[in-house]
Amino acid sequence: MSDASRVLKRLDELYAISDSRVGYSPEEDAAHRLAAIWMIDAGLEVEVDAAGNTFGRRGDARTWVGSHLDTVPRGGRFDGALGVVAGIELADRFDGPFTVAAFRDEEREYSGSRACVAEGRLPEHYLELHVEQGPVLERAGEPLGIVTALVGHALGEATFDGHADHAGTTPMDHRDDALLKAAAFIQRVAQAPVPPAVATVGRVDVHPGTRNVVPGRVTVSVDARAATRPALDALVETIGFEPLTIIEPVAMRDPVLAALRDALPGAPELVSGAGHDAGILAAAGVAAGMLFVRSLNGGASHSPDELSTAEDVALGLDALVRALVRIEAT
Ligand SMILES: [Zn+2]
Repeated sequence: MSDASRVLKRLDELYAISDSRVGYSPEEDAAHRLAAIWMIDAGLEVEVDAAGNTFGRRGDARTWVGSHLDTVPRGGRFDGALGVVAGIELADRFDGPFTVAAFRDEEREYSGSRACVAEGRLPEHYLELHVEQGPVLERAGEPLGIVTALVGHALGEATFDGHADHAGTTPMDHRDDALLKAAAFIQRVAQAPVPPAVATVGRVDVHPGTRNVVPGRVTVSVDARAATRPALDALVETIGFEPLTIIEPVAMRDPVLAALRDALPGAPELVSGAGHDAGILAAAGVAAGMLFVRSLNGGASHSPDELSTAEDVALGLDALVRALVRIEAT
């Protein structure tokens, strides 16, 4: 069996446990036990830390290769699990000291990688293979991409006041409709981002929220994301809202980023719009890098429609080996 077909078979075995392996559920526990068996089969020494993260080690490694085994409810086969299972394959394909890390509870709280940060148990370098979870590589006809940064988020709300009036008796030129003001704002949110930045209104609360009353007050959520802090600040300014929370963008770093560029000359470079364990470790000072594998089905993610091909997974594995060899040579 080729390495890639073994990877896909193992993703099926994890999916057979459950498509809903939420952090610290019995299903996530079972996925970690299965991964530990594969690590032992690969000749690695297994360690489970206090947070429940599972590590497979050979010697004293400076680099961790890994990802997570939890999923969102009704998730897909690839998100997270691919990086762990691919990491285990490296045991057969890389000779030096080596650690594969399977983190806990990434989807909700990054509990596993945050615990490593809190305890100060961190590697020098971290390398994560992950599915793209978006359509960029599929559209570009490229199997792999190198992540240069994980976006920062500005999260907040905007409220619009009007006057609640009878929907039948109030002439159109006598209305003060809060939802019309919100609608203009939502248009601005959609037009403000300069790619690869994005911004979304995902929730609209209308008061009184009744068919026969002109809306008197509307609150909308805003989720704005950009690759650098100046770009994020500029986006917030253009949209015009007060963020309640800012999550800082994190850059991927050499020698891991340089090793990926060496391993994949000419590969497209992307910014990740989603958060990852790599971002938690990078924010704590670890030199981290990520390699994306093309997601098919239009980039379907967090759904049973997640799909990547065996050919793309095989290319990802080859690149992971080449990058790890280069990182260890620094
Ligand atoms: Zn993930």
